[in-house]
Formats: sequence, structure tokens, C-alpha cells
Amino acid sequence: MTKIAVLGSTGSIGTQTLDIVSKNEDLQVVGLAAGRNIDLLEKQIRAFRPRLAAVGDPALAKELEIRVKDTSCKVAGGMEGLIQVAVMEEAEILVTAIVGMIGIRPTIEAICTGKDIALANKETLVTAGHIIMPLAEEKGVKIYPVDSEHSAIYQCLHGEKNRSIQKLLITASGGPFRGKKREDLEHVRVEDALKHPNWAMGHKITIDSATLVNKGLEVMEAKWLFGVDLDQIQVVVQPQSVIHSMVEFVDGSVMAQLGSPDMRLPIQYALYRGERRFLDDERLDFSKLGSITFETPDTETFKGLPLAMEASRIGGSMPTVFNAANEKAVALFLDRKISFLDIYRIIEEAMERHQVIPDPGIKEILDMEQDIYRWIEGRW
Ligand code: NDP
Repeated sequence: MTKIAVLGSTGSIGTQTLDIVSKNEDLQVVGLAAGRNIDLLEKQIRAFRPRLAAVGDPALAKELEIRVKDTSCKVAGGMEGLIQVAVMEEAEILVTAIVGMIGIRPTIEAICTGKDIALANKETLVTAGHIIMPLAEEKGVKIYPVDSEHSAIYQCLHGEKNRSIQKLLITASGGPFRGKKREDLEHVRVEDALKHPNWAMGHKITIDSATLVNKGLEVMEAKWLFGVDLDQIQVVVQPQSVIHSMVEFVDGSVMAQLGSPDMRLPIQYALYRGERRFLDDERLDFSKLGSITFETPDTETFKGLPLAMEASRIGGSMPTVFNAANEKAVALFLDRKISFLDIYRIIEEAMERHQVIPDPGIKEILDMEQDIYRWIEGRW
């Protein structure tokens, strides 16, 4: 029996994680955490009977506590609650499926208490990879990628040595606006940006896919996860989302991982720590597939990718600035307060005015996030 705790259980990755758990008797949920959706969290508590649940919003935590009084589940609130779930003694694996930089502190606490991490939350490694990776190594903790691209690379590297890597080839669908030019994007609506061609995901990551910021975050994350240089990572557009990513080795051989676009595969692979189990997903039918095509990303139009590469190359606190500016800009776009292209303008301006701190600690990273938020709120 593998015991797991899930941060972000009410979201896209969280609910798919619980779907996997419900189909496998040797997986047990001991802790759950969400932000505000206590209706769904209550249902999850009744279905999975965890010992502890946490709600990001402390007032809603109080309400949930009253609602689930008839169960044996304890309820905690705020950041303290998230951390309590992250460090639960009986949990072996923590699934970090919270969206945003709020996932950093609980992830660090879980690593310190020796939990393996099934990592979905990209922001953690993007902003604090220089702290998390050495800490995981020191504590003997494994980080299993949940993101489909990183899981694909992880699968391609099975049985291989990292020094055999020539290049990581991260694939991208190109998002809903692939083929469009900058002038076509000036007036796109939120609804258009939320129409991802292949994947069903949370709103924030879906917008990030449309701007190609998501691909940039994945490049930054891959650099830390697989210990390669930025120059060893290439993004390839593969619009059918059949190849989830590839690795080119020093002898020129290329390994690719293919599958239908279903996040449950990488989630299950992470929960079973790289062991393969049956999954009732849709299988690839090559006779129906026809062709798999490749393109170079249009970095003139979709500036999310080159801006992320620049932030990563500068390093230090710049990836935090890139990420925090994007988080706030996406929230404003989703609230219909700014245009799609303003997302790039905000990130660019935030990066231009930033004085880089070479090796930021966690407090500096989190303070910087709040500074960037405040600056954007005052400016836009
Ligand atoms: P969703 O928006 O669908 O879900 C986010 C989850 O985080 C929800 O459970 C939400 O709770 C919770 N949450 C938000 N704020 C807080 C808070 N302050 N305290 C506690 N919980 C909070 O996101 P996704 O599932 O799409 O993505 C989650 C992470 O995984 C992101 O970092 C994303 O980049 C990454 N990822 C996602 C993929 C996908 O296919 N969706 C693929 C690869 C990576 P509530 O709804 O109750 O407020």
C-alpha cells in the first residue's frame, strides 16, 4: 500500500490523481488540500477518507470543519494547513498539484521530512530549483515529474546515464493560436485562449500554453530536473501532441515517448515511482493517426518562450520575476482587465526593471513575488 497526500486535490491534476487512486487498491489517500472549492473537497473527504484536509482560505477551512464533523477527518487552514498535509507522517509521496508559487514552502517541508515528490507544480523548480534539487539530494528524496513532457524525458532516460544526454527535445502543441501572427493576437478573447487543441487543463496553464510561457516554464524546469545546460534543451512544435518529448543521446540515437494526451499516464507513472501499471486510457491507433508533423516554434510572435529562456540564462532571481509577473498578468487577463499581448508587455517590463539577486533564498523569492504583484497592481 502506497500512502499519498495531494496538494491541489480539487484541480485538474488533483482530480485525475484521485481518479487513479480510486482505480488502484494499493494506493491510499491520507491527506488532501485545496484552495477554496470546499464543496468538492467535502465530497473527496467522504470518498477517500483522509486523516487530514487543508483549505488555503482559513475562513472556508472553518466552514468545512463543521461540514465534515461526522467524519474522522481533521481540517486545517492557510499555509500552516498546507504544510501539515505536506509533512504528514504516514504519507510516502506528496503530489504537488497546487497552482502557483504557493506550492514552494509545502514542497520544501515535505522534502525535509523525507517524502518523495510527484511534482506537477512547475513554479517550484522554476523559481527555487537551486534550493530544491540540492535539498532533495541531501535528504535522499526522489522527485518524479508529473508534467507529461518531463515524464516523457524521465521515461526515455530509463536505464541511461545523464552524461549520455546530448539534448532534450521538449515537444509543444503550439497552443490554440499556432500559425497566427502578432497582429492577429491583439484582440483575442479569454474564451479563445482557453480552447487548447489537445489537452484539458486548469485555466492558468491553458493560458500559459497559448502564450508559450508554459513551454518556457517547462524548459526551466527540465534544466533543474535533469541537470542539463539550457543550450541542451530544444523546443519542437508537434501539433498532434502524440510525442510527449524526446531525448537525443551522444551517439545520435533519439528516444521518444508517445501516447494519447491523457495526464493520468504520467500521474500514475509518478505515483508508482516509475513502475508500469495497467491504465484504461485511449490507446494510440497508428493507422488512424496518419502523420506526425514537426515545426519550429514562432518565437517572434509567441514571446513567452524567448523571455523564459532569457530569464533562465540570467538566472538568480530573474526566473522568479518572470514567473510572478506572468502569474499576475494571466490572472488579470482571465479577469478581462488586460489584453492577451499585455501579458508579454508586463513580463518584459518587470524583467527590464529588475536588479538581479544572484542566489535568492526562499524568503527573498516569496517577498519578490509579492513585490512584483504589488508593482503590477499599481501599474496596470
Ligand atoms: P487547477 O487550476 O486546475 O487546480 C489548482 C489547484 O490548486 C486547485 O485544487 C486549487 O484549489 C488549488 N489551489 C489554488 N490556490 C490555492 C491555495 N492558496 N491554497 C491551496 N490550494 C490552492 O490547476 P492544474 O491542476 O491545471 O495545475 C496544477 C499545477 O500543475 C500547475 O502548477 C500546473 O502548471 C501544473 N501542471 C498541470 C498540468 C495539467 O494538465 N493540468 C500539466 C502539467 C503541469 P481550489 O480549486 O479549491 O481553489
